[in-house]
Amino acid sequence: MPVKIAIIGAGISGLSCAYHLKKYRSKAETYVYEAQNKIGGLCGSYTEKGFTFDYSGHLLHTSKPAGKKLAEELLRGNKKTISRQAYVFYKGKKIDFPFQNNLYALDAEEVSRCVSGALKAYAKPATNTDVFSGWALSLYGKGICEAFMFPYNSKLWNYPLNKISSAWCGKFIPASALEDIIKGAYGKRKKAFGYNSVFDYPQKGGCAAICEALAADLTNIQLNSPVKNIDVKNKTFTAGGKKTHYDKLVSTMPLPELGKAAKGLPAKIQNAFKKLKHNSLYVLNIAFEGKAPKGHWFYFPEEEYPFYRVGVQSAFSKNSAPKGSFSLYIEFSLKQNGRADLNKLKAAALEALKKLGFIKEESKILTEKWIYIRFGYPIYDKAYAKARAEILAYMAKQDIYLLGRYGAWEYSFMEKSLLDAAALAKTLSKVKL
Ligand SMILES: Cc1cc2nc3c(=O)[nH]c(=O)nc-3n(C[C@H](O)[C@H](O)[C@H](O)COP(=O)(O)OP(=O)(O)OC[C@H]3O[C@@H](n4cnc5c(N)ncnc54)[C@H](O)[C@@H]3O)c2cc1C
Repeated sequence: MPVKIAIIGAGISGLSCAYHLKKYRSKAETYVYEAQNKIGGLCGSYTEKGFTFDYSGHLLHTSKPAGKKLAEELLRGNKKTISRQAYVFYKGKKIDFPFQNNLYALDAEEVSRCVSGALKAYAKPATNTDVFSGWALSLYGKGICEAFMFPYNSKLWNYPLNKISSAWCGKFIPASALEDIIKGAYGKRKKAFGYNSVFDYPQKGGCAAICEALAADLTNIQLNSPVKNIDVKNKTFTAGGKKTHYDKLVSTMPLPELGKAAKGLPAKIQNAFKKLKHNSLYVLNIAFEGKAPKGHWFYFPEEEYPFYRVGVQSAFSKNSAPKGSFSLYIEFSLKQNGRADLNKLKAAALEALKKLGFIKEESKILTEKWIYIRFGYPIYDKAYAKARAEILAYMAKQDIYLLGRYGAWEYSFMEKSLLDAAALAKTLSKVKL
């Protein structure tokens, strides 16, 4: 069967592309192929025993006017704008996030170590700022790096910090000025820091409500249809057992998987695919009887906690948990394709939650589910930029467009997925098919 525009994946990127394409072209020209039996991908949600969970809490951070406008268009009355309440647990203290701007909460000796480290870094910045460790040292100094930046990011990335490039940092880590570090050492600030200080969250249906809105008017979404055997020369693939010819292909499937599915790639490109690295994650979605800890999410730099972050899913919408109960998403990082003993991990997590006072000895678990995210964060090592650029350039020449955090292999969030997809739809609106 010939298809003019085929989109691999009905996650937020693929659906946004199809949603925007229908503004320019006939709906009949675009087909979305989804491997799973439902839409949404990582931005999906599920409901169990009255609790609505995301596949790890997914909050919509919009920083651009077009992103805000699209969020309004998609969610209309089903959206609440929320101000972040996030904390770092450090040496038994609950410190406001970001750590480096809230040093006032630390012991005096620790404050002085962090502030003097920041002053020294300012006077004599590190020179190797192209890697994460050098970048962080030059901005925050040794004290802050040793207390938070290094242990937290080592836990999250599961990769040596002196081998990760700093290319992604500016957008995601509040690059505090020295003045903010010092002012924050004296007392609590009103100023909001970072890309996620305010976020939107659908009040009904979890994050999946965004994808549902994108898909509402689309007709050609084929579920249970993993795309395989992509013949880039002859422009064909198989999906749901059928061979299909395409004119343009948009891929949101994880880039390393595209490398395996695509046939007839030149040796240079095959080699570039081999260089892509990522970590893997487990998420434990779990609900308890009782009262939720106060806050939206918490960071854990210390080794004694098996997780790197815990979020309170029920804090984003009162509709996501029955009264008298609350729900958490607990995130664990592993090396690439790593696996763990989930019974041991859960036991360690429950012990840690008790120690933190998040749950009591007798707290009853109401529902729980483990989620494995094989492609968690693409790793920006030294080979990353060149390998990715070679693959993107080659694929574009074959009329294959790569989209989304995993498709385009970048550390990005939902707003970028939505808007990059809108931009690609505009580009595709101009091509003759
Ligand atoms: C732990 C975690 C927390 C996050 N939190 C946030 C957050 O709070 N806010 C935020 O903005 N972003 C967050 N993100 C990022 C967000 O998840 C991604 O930006 C987003 O999911 C990208 O969407 P996508 O459609 O590109 O990819 P995906 O969601 O991965 O969708 C891709 C789709 O393609 C399908 N697919 C794969 N292979 C094939 C195939 N061969 N054939 C057909 N279909 C296929 C998959 O089943 C999937 O449905 C988080 C990510 C993680 C890992």
